[in-house]
Amino acid sequence: MMGLLIDGELREAADGKTYDNINPATEQTIGQAPDASRSDVEAAVGAARRAFEDLEWSRDPTFRAHCLRQLLEGLRAEQEHLRRILIDEAGVPVALTHSIWLDTIIDSVSYWADLSESYPYETQLTAHATLAGVSSRRMILREPIGVVAAITPWNYPLPLNIFKVAAALAAGCSVVLKPAPDTPWSGTALGRIIAERTDVPDGIVNVVTSADPLIGEALVRDRRVDMITFTGSTEVGRRIMASAADNVTRVCLELGGKSANIVLDDADLPALAAGIAGVCAHAGQGCALPTRLLLPRSRYDEGLAVAQAAFESVSCGDPNDPDVIVGPVINTRQRDRILTMIERGKQEARILVGGAPASMPFGYYVEPTLFCDVEPDAVIAQEEIFGPVLAVIPYDDDDHAVEIANNSIYGLSGAVHSADIDRAMAVARRLRTGTVGINGGVWLAADTPFGGYKQSGLGRELGTDGFAEFLETKSIALPA
Ligand code: NAD
Repeated sequence: MMGLLIDGELREAADGKTYDNINPATEQTIGQAPDASRSDVEAAVGAARRAFEDLEWSRDPTFRAHCLRQLLEGLRAEQEHLRRILIDEAGVPVALTHSIWLDTIIDSVSYWADLSESYPYETQLTAHATLAGVSSRRMILREPIGVVAAITPWNYPLPLNIFKVAAALAAGCSVVLKPAPDTPWSGTALGRIIAERTDVPDGIVNVVTSADPLIGEALVRDRRVDMITFTGSTEVGRRIMASAADNVTRVCLELGGKSANIVLDDADLPALAAGIAGVCAHAGQGCALPTRLLLPRSRYDEGLAVAQAAFESVSCGDPNDPDVIVGPVINTRQRDRILTMIERGKQEARILVGGAPASMPFGYYVEPTLFCDVEPDAVIAQEEIFGPVLAVIPYDDDDHAVEIANNSIYGLSGAVHSADIDRAMAVARRLRTGTVGINGGVWLAADTPFGGYKQSGLGRELGTDGFAEFLETKSIALPA
């Protein structure tokens, strides 16, 4: 069994409890994870607090960069082991692990190592009169915020664990990472690699896994925590924000999405097939996937034919098969939720492809499902389904497309396709979302801020904006 990491020690839960880690493709138990209780969380936060207060860590960016480079090498050395974990506990298709589910994520750690060293932690302002009328010399210090609680979901487990832990370490914070109950090993493996392969001091990184999602609540409410970085559903994000209010703890929230893929009437429709099918990647369990396809009425039938062919050709099955991009969804609860949404969709719209559990002998599979003639206000056009389901919505003109795209409580991402880049840019500027890809452009990169408008989140992850979330600002004034 892989252990918790608390104060530099890899160990069992204090009361020795464990729970089963289930492979969603086989429904078999692949092993055990520690089932941490409240006392383990308290020990982890205590260790993180002490380490932050007592060590030079927060003041030594060069050492932090050294540790992050060791982490990069450690992750590379264990890349195949990590790939196995992602396939077995999260059902991530192996093909996806060769890109943004693992390989390129590991490489991104070098960004944090470099940023730790190069970030301007101190800036001097030129001496001039202050508002009080006297002249003062002022400097601005950016200091690590302190103890960070990092809470992550199961759909993109290892990347998010790495993004959050690496950014917090680069900034000089200490961390308690709480992975999702369904993907514990993506957290414990990271903790073990840090403990065994890096000089990160004891207590700076702690990992607690638990079958009980509410263990996160204990972490969020702990007064010794200075910041919560959370990725997960909007519903839980709201609860975390409310809990954090008691101690006025900083929150950085990456939440749900219902992103629109706007195809303008001059777009090369056949070229869009792969992108449309991409909505089903990892069984559609991606926050930023464009799950609403907006087609111009003038080319609606042509667009539908492309989408239908794309959905019919998507390969669904064993995540170990290199041709598969649609594996299982994470558990029975999620499968049932998706199937309920599909039944709802059948009352609201016309189904072109799929609409049932996939016919596999075992595993939590759902068929790639395509709905057309969807009204912008339909439930399947408004609620995050988090399965391989696409809603196609017709629109009249560019203004109408923007109006439909923005008709959402979410604002995470979006896509625009057009033969005319200026026209696509004009539409992109009007979208109320944190990221937009034009004609297949990819925004996911370590140096590019990612996050949501509206109820898709608060704050940003990645890039210098994401790094700054982990910093406090101190202004110092001296006589001129
Ligand atoms: P979730 O909100 O159910 O759980 C996320 C994490 O929060 C888990 O670790 C869970 O144990 C913990 N948690 C649950 N209740 C808690 C509480 N009251 N206090 C503290 N922690 C608590 O999300 P999920 O089902 O694991 O993941 C899917 C969701 O995540 C989707 O909505 C998806 O859009 C979102 N997501 C967002 C992004 C993004 O960057 N915006 C990325 C990936 C996933």
